[in-house]
Amino acid sequence: MTYLFNNYARRAVHLVKGQGTVVTDDKGKDYLDFTSGIAVVSLGHAHPAIVKALQEQSEKLWHISNLFESPEQEKLAESLTKNTDLSYALFCNSGAEANEAAIKLARKHTGKHHILSFKQSFHGRTFGAMAATGQDKIQQGFGPMLQSFEALPFNDVKSLKQATNDSVAAIMLEVIQAEGGVNSIEPAFAEAVMAACNEHNILLIIDEVQTGIGRTGTRYAYEQTALKPDIVSLAKGLGGGFPIGALLAGEELFDTFGPGAHGTTFGGNPLAISVAQTVVHHVFDPAFLQDVQEKSEYLKKQLQSELPNDKYSIRGQGLLVGIHSNKEIAPFIQAAEKQGLLLVPAGTNVIRLLPPLTVSKEEIDQAVAILKNILT
Ligand SMILES: *Cc1c(COP(=O)(O)O)cnc(C)c1O
Repeated sequence: MTYLFNNYARRAVHLVKGQGTVVTDDKGKDYLDFTSGIAVVSLGHAHPAIVKALQEQSEKLWHISNLFESPEQEKLAESLTKNTDLSYALFCNSGAEANEAAIKLARKHTGKHHILSFKQSFHGRTFGAMAATGQDKIQQGFGPMLQSFEALPFNDVKSLKQATNDSVAAIMLEVIQAEGGVNSIEPAFAEAVMAACNEHNILLIIDEVQTGIGRTGTRYAYEQTALKPDIVSLAKGLGGGFPIGALLAGEELFDTFGPGAHGTTFGGNPLAISVAQTVVHHVFDPAFLQDVQEKSEYLKKQLQSELPNDKYSIRGQGLLVGIHSNKEIAPFIQAAEKQGLLLVPAGTNVIRLLPPLTVSKEEIDQAVAILKNILT
């Protein structure tokens, strides 16, 4: 008997508490959480600073709506855009919502509606975000998609050139396709995207919902590429476990969203903002990001030396790492769970490692030992 919809293939583990990288189930068994709740719990579970931020804010004010000014939102917007080419932020509650706002902003600003995205991308489950998602399985059964989206092969310069012209409003992409298999953008393709955007006045929307906020070792993943976005969407890691999304955009887009053009009741709620500000304060510290990069190199090196190179290849950046296999990986994920390591797939053939950004080298060693055990 269940009262829940069947839309998630839930695993039979009931997690009841977490501390750092470790989560504990109702039987007292500990697991290393290399999912971070799908790239969400960026500072680990129950990080004292975010617990404190939430406790303090919860005693002051929970909700006021966006009818009133918010110096706290101002401050978070400044933290997110400082030393970038982006100037303004708008807060919402999830990744899909941030992408909906991005699509609306791009259409309204350009007066055009054609949006190019890529195969294997993932942008969310709402109608706009779903239409942008280049995977049939996500769209099946939901009737006609929102019009004017076209999913091109990723990293294919030729088809990009063929598809770009002055009638394109925006190109929407992930720097690393995360759900789609941990596929990174190639430098030559990034250059071609920028050339197309400049030549045809196309806006570039980068979906950093999964890759943003330090996940790849820099504040945003695009900083490691030639890409210069006009619009960036964020969510997942931004709230460290508290639901929040954000849209960032460049100077020229300010007037497009005037009063009444777009909005949400909960977006930028004081609880969410206080937690996100704390997360960003920690993660955007250059020493913290440096540490993420070092742990990433260490993790990838250990995986490369412990796993057979002919069967597995290691991809990704920062602490978004994919182990590509030529076999289906679902049984490995189950086996890892039995041995106390929680993992998440990306597609059918890729194990995705997404530990909290605060993971220790010892925890990486433990996880690699379990992976070696299971995969060899
Ligand atoms: C998870 C994800 C989304 C959707 O975010 P939700 O908060 O689940 O709506 C969008 N884009 C990317 C790249 C994601 O990883």
